[in-house]
Amino acid sequence: MKTFLFAWNPKKWNWTTLEQSIDQIEQTGRASEKWSVVSHKKIQPGDRVFLIRLGKQPKGIMGAGFVVSPVFLSSHWDGSDRLVNRVMIDFEVILNPEKEPLLNLDILKQGNLGKVNWTPQSSGIKINPDVTDELEAVWFDFLTTQKIRHNPFKPTEKEKQKVYTEGTPNQVIVTKYERNPFARKTCIDHYGLSCIICDFDFEKQYGELGKGFIHVHHLKQVADIGKEYQIDPIKDLRPVCPNCHAMIHKRKEPYSIDEMKEKINTNK
Ligand SMILES: [Zn+2]
Ligand SMILES: [Zn+2]
Repeated sequence: MKTFLFAWNPKKWNWTTLEQSIDQIEQTGRASEKWSVVSHKKIQPGDRVFLIRLGKQPKGIMGAGFVVSPVFLSSHWDGSDRLVNRVMIDFEVILNPEKEPLLNLDILKQGNLGKVNWTPQSSGIKINPDVTDELEAVWFDFLTTQKIRHNPFKPTEKEKQKVYTEGTPNQVIVTKYERNPFARKTCIDHYGLSCIICDFDFEKQYGELGKGFIHVHHLKQVADIGKEYQIDPIKDLRPVCPNCHAMIHKRKEPYSIDEMKEKINTNK
């Protein structure tokens, strides 16, 4: 998964549907937006997106989500005949710069993150993979410490909304906790990259192709999550291969890790 920085400059383009999109995220957990992209040869579905507001104060990261379409050509917003490369992005967070704090440039210029050019001239630029973990951690920390209404890491009434992972062998439905890059990384750093149930290791089996690949499963059930729930990636998440993950979710109340292990053992 690569990470890209998209930029919004309110001086150049008036985002008239901004509040509508924020409402939609509150209703459904996400909002789809079409966005122009310069690194059109590198970007693909499943890639991570951060959106930064530039040109006018307040400046800072105001949204995050995932790419959900291949690159396509569509007409330029200036009404000319010019065609531009775009992708569809599903945003899970969009902050309202008029009403909410943004993850501001002062924070983004500290430490390793300072190496990134946070004020690019164009939209859809790849962020150096060396700093993306730190960016995810800072973003997660920002969202969980600020009292942000549509924080995707806090449960809402619409918690039942689930998302699909792209390109997995059997399209297991994963929750937003299972897909959250910060939570994923913390879980994997702790438990490693092989399936906690069957011990499958993608890199051992597929070499370079399988490197870093694994699903994470969220142990808590949607119904058990209270209003004040804060995800603890080590307590709440486990690495599982997509096969085991699919089996876990074959029952409405997902099977526990122990139940799954038992099933494997009795069939050996
Ligand atoms: Zn497995
Ligand atoms: Zn799961």
